[in-house]
Amino acid sequence: MDKDAPYKIAGKATYHDGLTAARHEIGISLTPWSLVLIGKGSAVISEWPYKDIRLAEEVTQGRPTRLKVMGQDARLTITDWSLAQTIFKHAKHLGGGRTAERGLKLAFIALFFLAIGLGLFWLFSMNTLPSLVKSYFPNSWEQDIGQDFVEDFAGSFEVCEGKTGSQALARMTQRLSDVLPQNTLPLTVKVLNVKDVNAFALPGGEIRLFRGLIDEAASPDEVAGVLAHEIGHVIERHGLQALARHYGLMALMQVATAGTGDFMGAMAQAGGLLSLLSYSREAEQEADQHALSILQAADINPEKFGHFFERLHQKNADEDSSEDPTKEDFTIWFSTHPQEGKRAEFFLQKAFTGRPALSPAEWQALKVICASAGEPKSFRDW
Ligand SMILES: [Zn+2]
Repeated sequence: MDKDAPYKIAGKATYHDGLTAARHEIGISLTPWSLVLIGKGSAVISEWPYKDIRLAEEVTQGRPTRLKVMGQDARLTITDWSLAQTIFKHAKHLGGGRTAERGLKLAFIALFFLAIGLGLFWLFSMNTLPSLVKSYFPNSWEQDIGQDFVEDFAGSFEVCEGKTGSQALARMTQRLSDVLPQNTLPLTVKVLNVKDVNAFALPGGEIRLFRGLIDEAASPDEVAGVLAHEIGHVIERHGLQALARHYGLMALMQVATAGTGDFMGAMAQAGGLLSLLSYSREAEQEADQHALSILQAADINPEKFGHFFERLHQKNADEDSSEDPTKEDFTIWFSTHPQEGKRAEFFLQKAFTGRPALSPAEWQALKVICASAGEPKSFRDW
């Protein structure tokens, strides 16, 4: 290590000392216990112990994060969201940048689960809770929960943001959204730089497609089919129901033991996300039914989605007998979307013409949406 530069710069920030109007571009170095502010010529401006760091204002993802330190008027503005996330990991008391208001709301949601869960546990059974949640749970609460899951992903997986590819994906999403029931949550669809052939819907209309799925798809209609299927899960609120089923009673314990700030995060880490990925056979059928009607209403031929099923099924069977090391990457979609033989036919039987889900140029753009992203990760790295 260079003696004159003992601190490794983790990122940049704008520093305002609170005394003058001047703002300085500085470097940030992270030690195990503090954040070190590095000025010109590697000079240490100040050292902020993580425990003394506070939020200077409410944190919004995608906007600069403003921090202050106890006993000073100085302010630090960080525009690099992943740097902010790293600081939040050290300064756990900041609750990942969640504001007090959000923390309170999440605690309230936990209590809602608990109250209904306890009330119904003896009277009926825990099976009643998910259906009750489906009918009465406010949309904005579901969006809060979804946001929590998304934030736990931030930093784990890169989002592919190729410009024209994102525009193509937005067009496809819009075309499907246009035919959805009025009260469906607004959809947020993104491609993650993950090599597995998979896709899933989180609570709150948050849908994620994996790069491996885009690579594997032979036509835009196949991607539209998967997207329509995931939208089916959103319409039925399957993610929320799964959470209610698994965590209805656990929620209060989480709040009581872990505080209110990070209980959804604790749930996600305890396997909540993985359990969200494996829905019941009935849930998958419901999602398929929605997929079929959404595709037809949007004038997209569902047959291609059937072909996708067939091809993956074939590929899966081939690889089962061939010891291919990439085999596991293909099996994941089937482990979360069990094949029942009839699923491909369900989409293949429907005689329908339709228009392609994207123009050839848009499809090419979507295919390379991850071109400027790094090496794709595996979902198991999460
Ligand atoms: Zn599904």
